[in-house]
Amino acid sequence: MIRVGNGYDVHRLVPDRRLVLCGTEIPSQLGLLGHSDADVAVHALMDAILGALAMGDIGKLFPDSDPSYKGADSMMLLMEVISRMTEKGYALGNLDITIVAERPKLASYIPEMRGNLAAVFNCNVDKISVKATTEEGLGLAGEGIGAYASVLLIMT
Ligand code: MG
Repeated sequence: MIRVGNGYDVHRLVPDRRLVLCGTEIPSQLGLLGHSDADVAVHALMDAILGALAMGDIGKLFPDSDPSYKGADSMMLLMEVISRMTEKGYALGNLDITIVAERPKLASYIPEMRGNLAAVFNCNVDKISVKATTEEGLGLAGEGIGAYASVLLIMT
């Protein structure tokens, strides 16, 4: 049995915040605002996994109102979501993330991002796709960064 899920998230770019995407810190004048480290790509990915499992979303699992998630490392939250997936009897088939950002340029960081995700899933990097695109100056990407994620899960 296979299950598919999708996720979407956006965070605002502001001064004096780190920019962390798929667990990689990227040098940038602006970083993403959020309760956790605001890793928008990992947030979309977690929502895709939870969606595939029909287990709600990350707002339900890790509420903003809970101070223990303030500044949280989203990769640690992802490990928690992966353990829920494993408990339900599923493994990753593949995942595909699209990050939407006008700046900074992300291409050179993508191999490291894929490696970070392959490490937490304990899978081959060929199951992990991370892409980046702009919105050609349209849409919201000038003021924030967005991410879309799709996952396919396979019953083990
Ligand atoms: Mg988020």
